Amino acid sequence: MATNVTTAPITLVSNANDALFSLLEKTNFEHIKAPVDVNTLTFSPKGLDLKYREFSLCSTKDKSAFSPDLLNNLILFYFALTGYYILTLVIVLNYYFSGDIGLRQLVTQVVPYSGLIVLFYAVLVLTRKRRKWLLNIRELLTLLIALLLLYLSLTDKQLLETIFDSKQRTLFAGHSQVILLFLLLGVMATMHHFTCVIFISTVAVLSELSVKVAVGAYSEFITLEELSVLIVFVLVLCFIAYLRDFRSKQLFYQMQNEEKAHILAQSKYPSSHIENSFKTEIEKAADICDNIRKAIKEASAVIIYKDIRGKLKEVLLKVEDLRNKIVRGAFVEQVELEMPQTDPENEKFIKQNYMEKMLFSRKNTLLSKRTLIDIPLSAELPNYGESELNSELLSVGRTWNFDILRVHERSGQSAFLVGNYLIAKWEFSANYGLNEAAMNSCFRKIEASYRPNPFHNACHAADVCHSLIYFINHSQLIKNISGLDLLSCMLAALGHDISHPGLTNRYLILTHDDMAVTYNDTSVLENMHASKLFRILKEEDSNILNEVPYDDTMIIRKLIIEMVLETDMSKHFASVGRFRSISKKPGINYSKQEDKFFCLAFALKCADAGYSAKLVDLHVEWTERASEEFFLQGDLEREKGLEISSYCDRNNTDVAKSQVNFLTFICKPMFETWTDFLKADEITYSCKDQIDSNLEYWQNRAKGRRSVTPEQAKSVKLLRFFSMTEKIQDE
Ligand SMILES: [Zn+2]
Repeated sequence: MATNVTTAPITLVSNANDALFSLLEKTNFEHIKAPVDVNTLTFSPKGLDLKYREFSLCSTKDKSAFSPDLLNNLILFYFALTGYYILTLVIVLNYYFSGDIGLRQLVTQVVPYSGLIVLFYAVLVLTRKRRKWLLNIRELLTLLIALLLLYLSLTDKQLLETIFDSKQRTLFAGHSQVILLFLLLGVMATMHHFTCVIFISTVAVLSELSVKVAVGAYSEFITLEELSVLIVFVLVLCFIAYLRDFRSKQLFYQMQNEEKAHILAQSKYPSSHIENSFKTEIEKAADICDNIRKAIKEASAVIIYKDIRGKLKEVLLKVEDLRNKIVRGAFVEQVELEMPQTDPENEKFIKQNYMEKMLFSRKNTLLSKRTLIDIPLSAELPNYGESELNSELLSVGRTWNFDILRVHERSGQSAFLVGNYLIAKWEFSANYGLNEAAMNSCFRKIEASYRPNPFHNACHAADVCHSLIYFINHSQLIKNISGLDLLSCMLAALGHDISHPGLTNRYLILTHDDMAVTYNDTSVLENMHASKLFRILKEEDSNILNEVPYDDTMIIRKLIIEMVLETDMSKHFASVGRFRSISKKPGINYSKQEDKFFCLAFALKCADAGYSAKLVDLHVEWTERASEEFFLQGDLEREKGLEISSYCDRNNTDVAKSQVNFLTFICKPMFETWTDFLKADEITYSCKDQIDSNLEYWQNRAKGRRSVTPEQAKSVKLLRFFSMTEKIQDE
């Protein structure tokens, strides 16, 4: 209906500014057919009305601030209002002190007037920085202006004299002129909004008319003339307001269409503000759904037949449903069971044996429901003898750049300390009846299960656990997960690399390692880590879940497995893409177990790469450790006569260049997705921004020297991990 008329070459819209009235100066769009009701001048799709309101009243930069047009009009209006108020106040006080009017007259004239002025200012205070109120400022002002005009009519000299039965001094000089003045100012303050203008004009004329009739003023020619001037003036005002309002709305509608066309022309996939370096097939399919939804919405906005609009709405809901299913990967996971005859026993059998999801029936126990907010934080923290160490541990989950390596240097322990500290902090034994001795033994075993690799060691596990708790503590996650979820997070993080051999999945698979044979080449390491962790939890002296109700242990197990398997980097792109689609739309629904687990698994994945977002010193140390671990694998490959994996050859690897690539293509998009979802300023600041700094560091280093010489490669500090090895072996 409207799209075929916008053929004129207009370029105003791509960066629309605040100047609503500047639109009126544009001359080259006539014949615009906006869906506006010609009687009330309201848009027929209500959403458009709201957009127009926002456009004319709110600033484009800050949606809760006045638009420049509105601000100018308000300044003029309040200036005149206040000036006139002060003037009349001076006059009336002068009358009072010279004895022309009594106290009663003074009070009856000044108090309501002052009250109105206070209300006018209250509107200013109320609408300032409050978007919801600001959107209704026109109506609020209209109401007060109508009251003001009513009051002005009531202070008519003759009326006052009739009421008080005594001679009156007129408070307002040139009575009708004052009404005209405020009417005009009121029209401006309400931004020429047609219905507002009609309302205040009607109030002005009717109140004037009724007051004049009441005091029988029509015998005097002068008042009749005043009244007719007022009526003519009001009619002209309404006519102008109508034209102005109508034209603004038409132009606004045109602008909206232009803008839409502009956005669609600019990008095939609109509305994604992350600088994506990749897009998964799922995301592309979701984008197609988005485009279809958009097209349907646009079509139904211009269709007037109700039944067709109803059908379009149905289609829209179906497309939305389809999109949700696509991004959640529902097509592979879920099966709707439709049995011809209802045999409950048979149905149960099928669900138990042939459907992955029905492994156990989930009951909500009191335990799993309890949120972290319920838990009082009065815990007495363990004392490690060294006061410095105690205060160091306070940074766990609190200070992003907490240095676990320093703690390990001092105590010879890391995963054990972090685990122990956190269960004491959250008082797990008091709150959930977990056995303290079992917890101690469990964390000790976890620590001991790590090998002294340069990177994948107990320190890395403790560091990842710290980073994960940091994410939870500093975002909305803390309000949405239960205490048992937190316990699962701790265990998953601390155990996510248990017994890591310092070799990659690829190596294990290519060399037909026992581990690869056991797990059929599928997420070999991750399956092994989770399995080893649960073996520790199964042992009698370290079974911390002994006291936990059966259903809860199944939930904990499911969450831990999901989290640990998510750290498989071979699924990285699919994982980031899926998280991006779900978190954008339909959004994470924490009350859905599936969503919550998915979100926590992604949190662990980000925490696992957390070292890429730590302060440069810390980041470089961890990176050198990771490189050294790669080089050791390269040495092994060379020894066995295998092809050396990329970035694993210590003689030919440019660490700086590999880091630039790793940060640019892997870490940055992942952390952008993660911080975009969390919307927690502190996390965004400490992680996302730090990655950029680290990237800059490696870019500079890459420029400085193109490759690392063998001598340099060997001299990569073998750091503190050797001393660490000795300490572990001593135990
Ligand atoms: Zn890891």
